[in-house]
Amino acid sequence: MLSHPLVRAVGVEVLALLLAATCAGCDRPETLLCDACRQGIRSAPLVRRTPGGLLVSAAMPFESIAARCIRRLKDDGETLLARPLGAALGGVLAGVVAAQGEADAPVRLVPIPTSRSAFRRRGYRVPELLIRRAGSVPDRLLAPRGRRADQRGLDSAGRAENARGSMRSRSVIGGGVVVLVDDVVTTGATLDEAARTLRDAGFRVVSAVALAATLRLGERNANASETRSK
Ligand SMILES: [Zn+2]
Repeated sequence: MLSHPLVRAVGVEVLALLLAATCAGCDRPETLLCDACRQGIRSAPLVRRTPGGLLVSAAMPFESIAARCIRRLKDDGETLLARPLGAALGGVLAGVVAAQGEADAPVRLVPIPTSRSAFRRRGYRVPELLIRRAGSVPDRLLAPRGRRADQRGLDSAGRAENARGSMRSRSVIGGGVVVLVDDVVTTGATLDEAARTLRDAGFRVVSAVALAATLRLGERNANASETRSK
């Protein structure tokens, strides 16, 4: 099997890719993610509330190694990173879904929709890919609507304004229990808009899960001293 020309050719291709690669976390050559950095993207959960009051469980803070790996996945097409990042998301996702154990209906994991321009650029949808790599099935109940400016660089009010009306529900037959899933949560304006859209369509949005949450003013220092004292 290994001597098959095609297998050999693929092996050479993979080897060439690895030799050209650098670690997403620390730029060490010849690996996509070194062992030390792999440890750095283990789940370190934190919780947030959106301005609308939705509870968000994030797998890790958006900083250092995690932030670099997520940028590589989102901006540089490094989809192999979705596996370790998805594994970290999976732990939090399982806990949130289990907490809905009393619910009569199965929990639907709904990814925040990717804009058409981002999908054209990347060729994949990051939240959806992460749900799959977390070992779950995404339920694409939300679709993007119209054009929307990049959220980056906008303040909290600007983000809320920009998110308004930016998505629609694909289903008018509501009634299910929904957990929203996004890659990075900043102010939570996008999650609020997703929750509002699905509630209007008759769904019960109970919670949200994100791979990472940006740190707020003051948290960075608290986090650093905590790390130092360990
Ligand atoms: Zn590394």
